[in-house]
Amino acid sequence: MIELEGVWRTYHMGDTDVHALCDVSLGIGQGDYLAVVGPSGSGKSTLLNVLGCLDRPSTGSYRFRSKDVGSLDDRERSLMRQRDIGFVFQFFHLLPRLDARGNVELPMLFAGVPRAERRERAEQALVAVGLSDRMHHRPEELSGGQRQRVAIARAVIMRPALLLADEPTGNLDRASAREVMELLGQMNRDGQTVVLVTHDPEVAARARSTVRMSDGAIVERT
Ligand code: ADP
Ligand code: MG
Repeated sequence: MIELEGVWRTYHMGDTDVHALCDVSLGIGQGDYLAVVGPSGSGKSTLLNVLGCLDRPSTGSYRFRSKDVGSLDDRERSLMRQRDIGFVFQFFHLLPRLDARGNVELPMLFAGVPRAERRERAEQALVAVGLSDRMHHRPEELSGGQRQRVAIARAVIMRPALLLADEPTGNLDRASAREVMELLGQMNRDGQTVVLVTHDPEVAARARSTVRMSDGAIVERT
């Protein structure tokens, strides 16, 4: 489903170049569940951002469902992000003034889904992540684990081909982290392709395969 080949991402800092990604080649199949691990600064977030079209390679190729992402213009890339990719972040990135249902409705609002359908789908999604009694709570009225479950419901509401999660449990206590991992595991068993970044071995162990990064390069795949 996804093929990165010879991808570099270089940042120019004054007169030095920082290679956040060095010659990364990686294939990800439909239905995979991949954990990306490695020390801080090794390029994990950069890799995820490239996969999610939030960033683009300096050189190298990225094919997504046999499309050459590099040849897409900005509009096509943003459509791809909207339709095909769901993102989950360490700090949730929920809108504070919207309740849980409103947050889950947002991607559908951008996609022009009619209001009644939005409501119904958002409510079903919140039921599916175990938050049927929290639809009308705002983020600040939810625990960290509950916030992340809202964020996950929002990330998958457009039924993306690929779900990306950058340290999704990094800000959660053990019990909430387990709940979130249960949820991601369930989604993967239902067919969702998942790529997550973590430095928690317990979290990585739940994925089906692991990519280890060091200094911008993939040094091991298991
Ligand atoms: P990780 O997620 O594994 O901690 P990152 O992908 O965030 O690593 O960063 C990889 C390397 O790229 C680091 O050396 C980081 O300092 C550098 N980097 C990341 N983003 C930028 C940026 N916007 N400008 C300059 N350097 C960056
Ligand atoms: Mg990171």
